[in-house]
Amino acid sequence: MKNLIKTANYVSFKTKLGEFLANVYVNETTKKEHIVLFKGNIINKKNILTRIHSCCITSEVLHNTNCECQEQLDKALKEIQKTNGLLLYMDQEGRGIGLGPKLRAYELQDKGLNSAEANIAVGSKIDEREYCDAIEILEDLNIASINLLTNNPDKVNQLKNAGITVSKVTPHVIQDDKFKKYYEMKNHKLGHHIDISKFFSNKPQTA
Ligand SMILES: [Zn+2]
Repeated sequence: MKNLIKTANYVSFKTKLGEFLANVYVNETTKKEHIVLFKGNIINKKNILTRIHSCCITSEVLHNTNCECQEQLDKALKEIQKTNGLLLYMDQEGRGIGLGPKLRAYELQDKGLNSAEANIAVGSKIDEREYCDAIEILEDLNIASINLLTNNPDKVNQLKNAGITVSKVTPHVIQDDKFKKYYEMKNHKLGHHIDISKFFSNKPQTA
């Protein structure tokens, strides 16, 4: 590996959503710690169900409701538990902008900006996530090809450009009408391709 070191042998990792094997990769330069969880025999295998999930302490630990990260994480773990697969839990908070700017952006969202506009207003990019570390982990695991759980074409492109075989892209949408406006914003501002009419009712939104 170029930038990462693996910190342990895979250990059994029991969760409320099932049992996985876990490891941690550390980037020696940035000191970022990424957690890998997987279920089943995935090494050297094809079409591995894979979620590359950027951490979101505000939603996943503190139950903030600005985004659907906690629901997406649980949904991914349940699907991986059911069919075997891999979760890379990446140490990059708030689409990579960090916790402080993220909280300042939340204040602006309360004043009516959407999350993309708010990121710009606090001096960050709309999305600063990078997938170099995730790519290095996938290469280290020798996975032949992945079925990627994502709504984000940029993530797919970054992986493909780095030589990862993405055999399938599976939408990862939380079908709750309270997130409809959020997904519409992601389509417009982040270039996501979420079929809104397929996943959500046409009732007018009150949010
Ligand atoms: Zn989030």
